[in-house]
Amino acid sequence: MNTNFQIELKYIDNDSVSCSGDGWTQSHPLVYLDLSSGEVVVCPYCSLKFQKRK
Ligand SMILES: [Zn+2]
Repeated sequence: MNTNFQIELKYIDNDSVSCSGDGWTQSHPLVYLDLSSGEVVVCPYCSLKFQKRK
């Protein structure tokens, strides 16, 4: 009964990550997201989710 198809969370080994879309259906200008807080960061363009790997 897992009906939610939310975008998967991507774990990153660095304090920041660059995103330019998922490479399939979406693309956008390259942006850098700050992951240093340890919280989940959502890309403002494509809604991909990133979190620093603990
Ligand atoms: Zn993005």
